Amino acid sequence: MSDKTIFQKIIDREIPAPLVYEDEHCAAFNDINPQAPIHVLIVPRKVIPRVGDAQPEDQATLGALLLAAGNVAKQLGVSERTKGFRLVINHGADAGETVPHMHVHLLASRALGWPPG
Ligand code: 5GP
Repeated sequence: MSDKTIFQKIIDREIPAPLVYEDEHCAAFNDINPQAPIHVLIVPRKVIPRVGDAQPEDQATLGALLLAAGNVAKQLGVSERTKGFRLVINHGADAGETVPHMHVHLLASRALGWPPG
């Protein structure tokens, strides 16, 4: 039996989900249960369970995730200040984390309330 996370299986093309972006550090695909008209998950190829578990050697991976998020936003046409997007990282139960493979949510194309729920 595979111990891979669901996101590893998507990145490795074992579960079909079109990738909207990929580079050497990460890949991105649409969330299966979107919370906004645009809801993309940016996922590192290296499994870091959650952001608070990241180690100093993960610095390049963490930086690559934010750069990738900016690239995805540009690609989807929401990076102008008049539009915009929100990045979310959930760590642990109170934050609503459900998949223990760190990822960045990119939400856009609707007005996003603040404070978040
Ligand atoms: P978390 O709650 O851990 O921050 O976010 C996990 C996200 O993964 C959720 O928004 C959920 O909808 C999404 N998700 C869970 N399973 C799948 C899947 O099999 N495919 C895709 N595309 N998204 C998934």
